[in-house]
Amino acid sequence: MRLCFATNSHHKLEEVMAVLGGTFQLLTLANVGCKEELPETQETIAGNANQKAAYVWNHYKIPCFADDTGLEVEALDGAPGVFSARYAGPQRSSKDNLNLLLKKMEGLHNREAQFRTVISLILPQGEWLFEGIVKGVILTEPRGTAGFGYDPIFQPHGSRKTLAEMTMEEKNEISHRALAVKKLKVFLNAL
Ligand code: IMP
Repeated sequence: MRLCFATNSHHKLEEVMAVLGGTFQLLTLANVGCKEELPETQETIAGNANQKAAYVWNHYKIPCFADDTGLEVEALDGAPGVFSARYAGPQRSSKDNLNLLLKKMEGLHNREAQFRTVISLILPQGEWLFEGIVKGVILTEPRGTAGFGYDPIFQPHGSRKTLAEMTMEEKNEISHRALAVKKLKVFLNAL
């Protein structure tokens, strides 16, 4: 089956291809001729995932899926959550976002947090959602250079490494996105 993964992030593409590749022919936005920035203006993670996938479906009529991810910090009432990408402003800088989060958490003892990914899959028959969550803690300083986004400050429960100290294979064993993609894979394989 040919399926477009609606993302402009090469990090996400690599992670998802490592789980789905081989079974499905994954097309990128460039492959389907989509050069636009995908809209993500909704108030929920699921809403944004749906908005991105629906954009590709409506414009290119190709089976597709999109993911949206939020980092939800307990002591900040779930922030940055759906605003994770633009936490420090519209420039969407991962470094600025990470530094702002560390600053907001200065002196906080409760460091509990979770990454939540929702994938929206749109096929001619309809839409399906798949969710993946990984729980962990926010460190006080970044560690590691792999991965992207908030990875250097997030240490999953049960691990001594941050997500940015893991290989992609290690991250894909436990990550929010990989868990959601594995659910997507089971669903697609059963079609
Ligand atoms: P989005 O899903 O691309 O909207 O991502 C929202 C924000 O979360 C962006 O700032 C990303 O850099 C960050 N983010 C998304 N996925 C991950 C991840 O797997 N690890 C760390 N940060 C992530």
